[in-house]
Amino acid sequence: MNSIYVHIPFCEQKCCYCAFASFDNQFDQVQKYFQALQKEIESSTFEFRIGSIFIGGGTPSAVSPSIIEKILKTIREKFQVEKDAEITIEANPNSLDEKKLKEYFSMGINRLSVGVQSLENKQLKMLGRLHNKIQVFKALRVAKKVGFKNINCDLLLGLENQSVFQLKKAIKALKKYATHFSCYMLQVEDGTPVKSMVEGGRIKLPDDDKVVKIYHRLVVFLKRNGFEQYEISNFAKKGFECLHNLNYWGRGNYLGFGLGAHSFVGESRWANASNFFDYFAGKKAFSEKLNDKQVAEEIVMLGLRCCLGFRLSQLKKYGVILEKNPYFNEFLEKGVLKAENGVIKINPDYYGVSNLVIEELIDF
Ligand code: SF4
Repeated sequence: MNSIYVHIPFCEQKCCYCAFASFDNQFDQVQKYFQALQKEIESSTFEFRIGSIFIGGGTPSAVSPSIIEKILKTIREKFQVEKDAEITIEANPNSLDEKKLKEYFSMGINRLSVGVQSLENKQLKMLGRLHNKIQVFKALRVAKKVGFKNINCDLLLGLENQSVFQLKKAIKALKKYATHFSCYMLQVEDGTPVKSMVEGGRIKLPDDDKVVKIYHRLVVFLKRNGFEQYEISNFAKKGFECLHNLNYWGRGNYLGFGLGAHSFVGESRWANASNFFDYFAGKKAFSEKLNDKQVAEEIVMLGLRCCLGFRLSQLKKYGVILEKNPYFNEFLEKGVLKAENGVIKINPDYYGVSNLVIEELIDF
């Protein structure tokens, strides 16, 4: 499959943990940015049929839906977008209303990814989010009413005073609307306000062991509630797995448009510059062609972080015989890995430690 990612780098406020290419003080660039984005899409030299489009950010719901509509129109004119393509937009609860949701729906967006993060107002405030619990449910209710049948809710793990009980309660309440949950661990990145809050003792985050325990209990709870894990952080009702992400992990082609957006075609990858000045000048952050070793590593890494797995025969093409690695055979014997018709997959019970498994296997 081929996919398109569009980056909308504007946010109403910068969350205190955010290290993404997003800006809360650059709204005066909106017009210039969308002209550049439009031009970038129009000048693409690829002729792909597109199976998924993901409009992410930043906060796409922070800009006018008419801008999003124009971008989608340009994509449809330039590429052949499949009739049943999955088209996702990321949105924050405080910037969603009925009018906006109706417009999204009528322009063909069929998947909504909502940055819920938590249903505890104190935690939301600590994160620097602009919404509260009431706004979450208001947005979800309206999204359902408008016709959205495929809704993801993002949740954050590892927050101050977060308990399994709170998360279970959140999932119980959200499952009425959600078909998909993405549960990410809070990362304390250098240069973010949350880092100085932790270092200055102003907040106390749970240690890694506690977060891992919470994560494992959550995995069980989600499964019990009909959400199957299909990647370390992703859980879906049957048939609602995110096609766009599956295409990334399955190493399908994707074109990224916008500031900081990454692309991958064949064995080449590149990324746009992640500041406005360089992006407007058409500069790339990097561009590289993967060598055989890198391709093989990527096949294992991406395949084992999700339900897709990888084919041993695929690796052989790049000169890697995994059967020679003693860890590989041990993992198979112990049931950490399983082989199904030549496809190697990770046992879902081991998603949480898949990084360690991958590390041993890619020591080619
Ligand atoms: S809404 Fe998302 S992209 Fe924007 S600042 Fe917060 S975490 Fe970053």
